Amino acid sequence: MSTTRSELLQAFDALLQPARFKDYGPNGLQVEGRAQIQRIVSGVTASRALIEAAIDAKADAIFVHHGLFWRGQDGCVTGWMKQRLALLLAHDINLYAYHLPLDAHPELGNNAQLGRQLGLSATARFGEQELGFLGGRADGGSFASADALARHLEYALNRPVVQVGQTHGAIKKIAWCSGGAQSYFEAAIAAGADAFITGEISEPQAHYAREMGTVFIACGHHASERYGAPAVASQVATQFGLAHEFIDIDNPA
Ligand SMILES: [Zn+2]
Repeated sequence: MSTTRSELLQAFDALLQPARFKDYGPNGLQVEGRAQIQRIVSGVTASRALIEAAIDAKADAIFVHHGLFWRGQDGCVTGWMKQRLALLLAHDINLYAYHLPLDAHPELGNNAQLGRQLGLSATARFGEQELGFLGGRADGGSFASADALARHLEYALNRPVVQVGQTHGAIKKIAWCSGGAQSYFEAAIAAGADAFITGEISEPQAHYAREMGTVFIACGHHASERYGAPAVASQVATQFGLAHEFIDIDNPA
């Protein structure tokens, strides 16, 4: 089965509704490739390693969370940008990228899928553009301590986490936002969360965690964002009868 480049774009747009977001780069078709598509590779970041793996997999399209173009770039096609673009263009591969719309989708997005991986369910949203998820354990239970929550995350994500702060009692109300959402910590505290989970931590959040009694856990930017792209790509691939494969290029950050 196959579809066209523009039908695939319409399907991603219909699902993720990029017009609703103020984002840091273009969402949608970032690099135009061949017109007919049979095979999609999804991944977290349009790195050279992912593009090379997609070429080996004979992909017609790549679907990622982190595309090539961001606000603040100098706009020159040199160095790593030249290398990545040259590979895509030489192999006529389409690159579709969705950033905040992919974080936000209520069932298939990074936050929803991270929650699923962690056994959490959301009852509310918080923070800028309502990207943050707020809820607790899907089974209605709680975590006995910050350490118990951290060990649970390490088991569920199969990687070490950075944990700062303690609570007095059990952890029931949990806020999370995938990727580099450390700036959402204060909104999570204001929302009454016992713990906040994101990918990265910066220096100020360690102090806020200690001073405010809200636990901060950084579980890795990549690790927190590897579930949305395959969920969306596989749903859209099924819709058109296309082949789909998620390729995880590991990243310790
Ligand atoms: Zn990210």
